Amino acid sequence: MTYPNWLSQRAYLTGNQLALSFGKNEWTFSEVNELALDYAGKLAHFGITQHSRVALLSKSNAEAVFVIYGCMQIGCEMVMLNERLAGAELAYQLEDAGVDRVFADAELIEKVAGAQPVSFDELKLAKPAVFPLKTEWAKQQTISIMYTSGTTGNPKGVRQTAENHFSSAVSSALNLGVSPDDVWLCTVPLFHISGFSILMRSLVYGMGVRLYGKFDAAVCADELSKGQVTHSSMVGVMLEQVLREIEQRELRVSPRFKQILAGGGPVPVSYLQRAEAHGIQVLQTYGMTETSSQTTTLQTADAKTKLGSAGKPLFLYQVKIDGAQAAGEHGEILIRGPQVTPGYIGQFKDRPVLVDGWLATGDIGYLDAEGFLFVVDRRSDLIVSGGENVYPAEIEKVLMAHPAVREAGVCGMPDDRWGEVPAAFVVLDAGETAEQLPAFCRSQLAGYKVPKTFRVVGSLPRSASNKLLRRELKKWL
Ligand code: ATP
Ligand code: MG
Repeated sequence: MTYPNWLSQRAYLTGNQLALSFGKNEWTFSEVNELALDYAGKLAHFGITQHSRVALLSKSNAEAVFVIYGCMQIGCEMVMLNERLAGAELAYQLEDAGVDRVFADAELIEKVAGAQPVSFDELKLAKPAVFPLKTEWAKQQTISIMYTSGTTGNPKGVRQTAENHFSSAVSSALNLGVSPDDVWLCTVPLFHISGFSILMRSLVYGMGVRLYGKFDAAVCADELSKGQVTHSSMVGVMLEQVLREIEQRELRVSPRFKQILAGGGPVPVSYLQRAEAHGIQVLQTYGMTETSSQTTTLQTADAKTKLGSAGKPLFLYQVKIDGAQAAGEHGEILIRGPQVTPGYIGQFKDRPVLVDGWLATGDIGYLDAEGFLFVVDRRSDLIVSGGENVYPAEIEKVLMAHPAVREAGVCGMPDDRWGEVPAAFVVLDAGETAEQLPAFCRSQLAGYKVPKTFRVVGSLPRSASNKLLRRELKKWL
């Protein structure tokens, strides 16, 4: 089964519609299609064919979009490199992916110097070669390869096919609705599925993208009030900063603005209320690299009665809890649907993705009586203490509610009597001590969940995407 080439189809159907806007410049779908064809020829100049695997290292800018779309015209696989990674981390991914060529924007090229990269400037100046235009795209064709965040171990290279991206875009549309003049504000990185999926939605819906090189709360607040953009994707902290800008500057959010998709973890209800006061709907989502973006979404209307929930699956998807017999039982979250990757590449190539047709997420969660999903914690971080399951995230949440605590991380520590006990690492406000923390935890948590040690540290180990690395905490013990 195939799809028609998304870029030429878009140029044919809605060629005059806005496709991309960056800085002061705008491009229609016809213009974007022409540029993508030109870039495809330039890529062909460097020997890239539909059988190639290339790596892209770039900030979010218009040129990066044209290179991405050029790769799609050729039909090669794109490894999307994370510009925040250090040279050694990038070298690992390039080695693991076995790429044919690396293309990098001039600002970042030094980071991949060992891989004989071609700079975007060089690419731009190259004389386009003739290449066979792919008019049909196989559903199973890999479009992008993205490395997971590496929160629980080495980052894994995930294949994302045309069908994965297409079903993700369609499922999201069935949930949010689409209208011909929608414009998505993109301040999340294109190398991450949160940003890349915005480009895919743009092609599938014929929707405009307002792109920024990086997130700036003040600029986002301006965009929301100006009335060009209708949607955006954010994580909780970004949302809070944008709301603060709107409140402090007493901005009026344009009635044209509709929804924000908020991923990565539960959004505090106070943020939701503040957003609502400005007519902004916030939809919380749960997803992973392996599912090409959101799998479940919590509707704004349910957010207050289902505090902390990640919502229900989108129409094409299914979610269940491994081994659970009744509502509320904890277990590994299993996912099924056309958005699930066909597999990993490189050193994880042979790791099966599906077990009996379901993706094992590595996350523990439960479904309540009405079928709402709650994500509890990572399976690999679970602490078993005297036969009781202890979830680090629950203890961290309690610690973080203490006024002196800025950041908290919890992991299991070997214990002769209980097998394992929780240990806490905290970053405190200046001049504070950990003295009150044991009593504070005892007032909020069952005894076996209270950490046996509290270590004050200057900062916590985090990944390039700012996720807490509890496996590093274990090494600190
Ligand atoms: P790795 O697989 O290398 O350990 P990772 O799982 O952190 O890294 P990503 O694919 O970027 O890499 O992140 C997906 C994970 O993020 C999910 O498996 C889940 O643990 C977490 N996550 C995403 N959305 C939510 C949410 N709404 N609530 C709680 N956790 C979430
Ligand atoms: Mg993962």
